[in-house]
Amino acid sequence: MATCTKQDSWSQFISHLEGALSNAEFANWIKPISLKCVDSVSVTLCVPNVFVQEYLLDNFYEDLVTFLPVDGKGKPSIIFEIAEQKKRKAVNLPAVQDAPKVDLKLNSSYTFETFIEGPANQFVKSAAMGVASRPGHSYNPLFVHGGVGLGKTHLLHAIAHHVQSQHKNLKILYVTAEGFINDLMRHLKGKSLDKMKQYYRSLDVLLIDDIQFLQNRPNFEEELCSTIEALINQNKQVVISSDKPPAQLKLSERLIARMEWGLVAHLGCPDLETRVAILQSKAEQKGIRLPSKVAFFIAEHIFQNVRQLEGAVNRLGAYCRMMHLDVTEEVAEKTLGEMFCTQPSAKVSVDNILKSVAAIFDVRLSDLRGSSRMKEIAYARQVAMYLAKELVPDSLVKLASAFGGKTHSTLLHAWKKIKNQLPQDEMLKRQVQLARREIGA
Ligand code: ADP
Ligand code: MG
Repeated sequence: MATCTKQDSWSQFISHLEGALSNAEFANWIKPISLKCVDSVSVTLCVPNVFVQEYLLDNFYEDLVTFLPVDGKGKPSIIFEIAEQKKRKAVNLPAVQDAPKVDLKLNSSYTFETFIEGPANQFVKSAAMGVASRPGHSYNPLFVHGGVGLGKTHLLHAIAHHVQSQHKNLKILYVTAEGFINDLMRHLKGKSLDKMKQYYRSLDVLLIDDIQFLQNRPNFEEELCSTIEALINQNKQVVISSDKPPAQLKLSERLIARMEWGLVAHLGCPDLETRVAILQSKAEQKGIRLPSKVAFFIAEHIFQNVRQLEGAVNRLGAYCRMMHLDVTEEVAEKTLGEMFCTQPSAKVSVDNILKSVAAIFDVRLSDLRGSSRMKEIAYARQVAMYLAKELVPDSLVKLASAFGGKTHSTLLHAWKKIKNQLPQDEMLKRQVQLARREIGA
């Protein structure tokens, strides 16, 4: 290279890469780089973002040293400049304005306004709002993960609604991973893959829902990964949802690394207060009058899935309307009982019951197993005995012995007493419900 000018060295480096890389890789990573200026000691390159800079240094260090000038320590003497925001915007706009409007098939009620926030989802909601306000300029990609029915799709739609109303010129696509696969298959069959690639790469905001469906589909995965890289390199916003964090997905290292590059945010199960607020908001949207006592009752029993909470409101509302009934706890229990979360009682042990009852009644574990007749202790012990008989499928003798060697008739007496008292004692009912929930029964 000694005889080349530096400008020539750069051109030679580029043609070397063109031969070494796939078309997609070259287009995504190398094409966006431009040579800004050359002087006697260094080369200044303009890159769209720091990822491209890292990609170049990580993957082509040896080639850079071979083709370009080096400093005193033998390192490539390159000055990187990140392209200015304004310039990129100006470049993007014409394509965006020409873009045909597509129907995104969004659920009109999935907006930020209707997304109730609480400690478990506040962070994700803020990140989603940040991305929707400044697409491509905050977290990229934004990766949202959480269990079924916790609001991932709702948030992705909310981002799309917000971008549609606040950034009218931006071209958005909301697609599930399955939808992407179908799209790709259709274009492969129709030999129009280039058209699809062109379309996806012209987007300003790409929202991909349920990326876990891409697992074990390596052919489709590669295309999606290239699309994501191409968009991020142009500072176009990518948002991805999944039921697991990136590292737990059975996807290529390349895609996982790409997804971890931006912001990974977890959507947790909402706490009791948030669940109550969600129930009340859903009831209001459906025109159902839901007393807060009933909302609490439902929220105490359905806690893993917001979609189920919504289903509960709909079912209860429809039943009460049809039967001309007021919405009460009794009606809720009758109509929704089967939806209430229960776990196999085989998992419940007397030990668990004792621990949870001791915590709820604020007594010591040893007192529950002991023989103290103090009112509070004896009462808590009777509740624990009631729960043991209800939840643990062992003989009465065995259950009673787990209470420090009591007799089976003591246990039976306690069970009867609490069972009879439950219907008329609101406080006791709540304590028993709480204990059941803590035990997971
Ligand atoms: P996911 O995609 O995570 O499986 P969805 O986004 O489909 O879950 O949410 C399931 C239902 O629960 C939707 O009707 C959604 O509106 C509702 N939902 C979930 N989280 C919330 C929330 N925080 N506030 C209001 N509604 C919510
Ligand atoms: Mg979903």
